[in-house]
Amino acid sequence: MSVNLLGLGRPELTSYCAELGEKPFRAKQLLHWIHQSGATDFGVMTDISKTLRERLALEAAISGPTVVRDTVAGDGTRKWLLDVGTGNAVETVFIPETSRGTLCISSQAGCALECSFCATGRQGFNRNLTVAEIIGQLWWANKCLGAYASINQGDARIISNVVMMGMGEPLANFDNVVAAMRLMLDDDAYGLSRRRVTLSTSGLVPAMDRLRDACPVALAVSLHAPNDALRNELVPINKKYPIRELLAACVRYIEKAPRDFVTFEYVLLDGVNDSVAQARELVETVKSVPCKINLIPFNPFPDSGYARSKSEAMARFRDVLLRADLVATTRKTRGDDIAAACGQLAGQVADKTQRAARRDARAAAATTVNPTPESVL
Ligand code: SAH
Ligand code: SF4
Repeated sequence: MSVNLLGLGRPELTSYCAELGEKPFRAKQLLHWIHQSGATDFGVMTDISKTLRERLALEAAISGPTVVRDTVAGDGTRKWLLDVGTGNAVETVFIPETSRGTLCISSQAGCALECSFCATGRQGFNRNLTVAEIIGQLWWANKCLGAYASINQGDARIISNVVMMGMGEPLANFDNVVAAMRLMLDDDAYGLSRRRVTLSTSGLVPAMDRLRDACPVALAVSLHAPNDALRNELVPINKKYPIRELLAACVRYIEKAPRDFVTFEYVLLDGVNDSVAQARELVETVKSVPCKINLIPFNPFPDSGYARSKSEAMARFRDVLLRADLVATTRKTRGDDIAAACGQLAGQVADKTQRAARRDARAAAATTVNPTPESVL
């Protein structure tokens, strides 16, 4: 089977070249061709000897994702559905803005963490994406948006920022996510600054410490609640890594981070976590951590059981934070007409955990309030 060079980081590509009896600078040339020109054909790699090109054509390939759907929203947000085999698909979203373009990348098919308000969590976990599948999303989007041509002409980057905020918990697929992010940062590949690559986590504390040492990038943490009782409900991983431990990990992370703050994400759910009292409690909870708070209007999906907070409630919540001198922004919802907004990415996952079936069974049991005598017997 041929090796997919798209999934090889610099170290792996260098060893691969060594195996072929080639010098390390060949790895650099290959990185340029693959990640700065979007090449798929070894024939175009004119600075590489003909013998090596022929050998690569026999033994290796540069295979991008299989795109099964490409949708553009009214506001220009674009979503690609990528087939990742065995009935699974994941989504990548490009969000154009006036002065920048952000690509939102998935790290897993599904997610095992079951946050109660998230469409990806609802469908269960299937598998980790490979390095080729993760970096392949950036590679593909650059190709599709004509961005490789603009990079080569020295124009402003069409994709200036990457956020690991698509489907999945990136820190639960640590090695592959770090290898892909190193390519994003590598000057011979995408050359993005660490400040322009953001990883969002639901709070896997030991992996946050590992990330700080292995590949510190900008960090966003999904907080969503001011206390453990509520966070246990919304983000169940909190039972394992409660808020106090999470905040301590944030402080440790900042020591090595490219930015001197952490972004706390807080999705506003009507009547659940959006009261003035909860805003005040949040101010107290986060006071030990240099942070910005990003309030996210809840993005609905079928049978979510939650509603978006009213705009007055969102404004009141934000005012409490601002009056306490916290930096708080409200995230603009983008691409919701094509279900491309935060938390709406569902792709398609063959749920090995049968979570949907269990949930339906629980719901059916809960609605059977007065079982008939026959069903009791
Ligand atoms: N697994 C990571 C990253 C992916 S989710 C994490 O949880 O941080 C990216 C962000 O979208 C997270 O803050 C997540 O909590 C939020 N989110 C999930 N479902 C949402 C929804 N339905 N509406 C708005 N935001 C949502
Ligand atoms: Fe997973 Fe993040 Fe969704 Fe929670 S919010 S289920 S961690 S993708």
